[in-house]
Amino acid sequence: MVDYARGNMAVAHNGNLTNAAFLREELEQIGAIFQSTTDSEVIIHLISRSRGASFTDSVIDALRQVVGAYSVAITNGDVIVAARDPLGFRPLWLGRLNNAFIVASETCALDIIDAEWIREVEPGEVVTIDRDGLRSVKPFKPAVPKQCLFEFVYVARPDSYIFGQGVDEVRKNMGRELARQAPADADIVMAVPDSSNPAALGYAHESGLPFEVGFIRNHYVGRTFIEPEQGIRDFGVKIKLNPSRSAVAGKRIILVDDSIVRGTTAPKIIKMLRRTGARSIHFRVASPRIINSCHYGIDTPNREKLIAHKSSVEEIRKFLDVDSLEYLELPALLRATGGNPDHFCTACFTGNYPTPVPEDYETKPRNHRHVDHSTAQYER
Ligand code: SF4
Repeated sequence: MVDYARGNMAVAHNGNLTNAAFLREELEQIGAIFQSTTDSEVIIHLISRSRGASFTDSVIDALRQVVGAYSVAITNGDVIVAARDPLGFRPLWLGRLNNAFIVASETCALDIIDAEWIREVEPGEVVTIDRDGLRSVKPFKPAVPKQCLFEFVYVARPDSYIFGQGVDEVRKNMGRELARQAPADADIVMAVPDSSNPAALGYAHESGLPFEVGFIRNHYVGRTFIEPEQGIRDFGVKIKLNPSRSAVAGKRIILVDDSIVRGTTAPKIIKMLRRTGARSIHFRVASPRIINSCHYGIDTPNREKLIAHKSSVEEIRKFLDVDSLEYLELPALLRATGGNPDHFCTACFTGNYPTPVPEDYETKPRNHRHVDHSTAQYER
């Protein structure tokens, strides 16, 4: 929130601008003083300097200058302007509650307040909401959408609809695809809790093997990531999750995870399963290897910290100490979405970034969305 010459303004921004550093430098050259390091502040400065006839015109003027990912809701108190970048990296929804319109990234936010779902804001669409109702324009050059594929893998909540699909169903499809691509001789299918549950269920349905709740979550302890020392954090994982001996001991297990980022969580989970008497562990990952950082707002680390950037599948298998390891192939993941495969960003899996990205990106500090609704709290 800021005060500026024409009143005040609040900005909510999901995404990351890839030309923010360049714009910031330009703005500083002409006297802008920044209060934070967030790229969202660049949008504020651009709006406040715009000579647009209306608030919406000023927002459009600002958004024409930025590159990268943004789903934004910006208000001056009288008007809300909601916009999605032309490639539509991040989701954005419109809802209604009585006479009020709601803007949210995911439908689960609308459900919480009993709001009605209206529709998704389209890539490149700018919606103005004021006392006269809702108006929409598409002021940017049309482009082929590049929606974030990783939203379906991990980021979005399973009870949401995004990009025209139910997230839970897409994750089950990923599991089904994985079962067809990478079967194994096993007794049970288990998930690395909780974000992998739908993919593990899909794997179980397709393979005909029973799905077991192999880990029990302790809901009565604090968050592990706030513990100060590594030793305490490691112990924290054990406090949070404990394998169920009757489900696991003596079993040949297919363990399904939605993704492997740093590779810091999986070894702990696998060690716990081995100690509990698992006979064999076949690790199945419901997405391809993550080999590149995200430049569009997801909090993946610099690529040197990504386990798949520096190690082969066989090296990772040995490191994890599992009997077999397979990742879902990209065409299968795209099929699982039920959408047009050309309409997704796949850059963290392929390195094909849909916009130019700064060369020094890997070394500069960033402001990214940190996702912690599932196992992120165990330092993925
Ligand atoms: S790089 Fe990966 S996480 Fe980032 S927007 Fe593209 S698909 Fe999503």
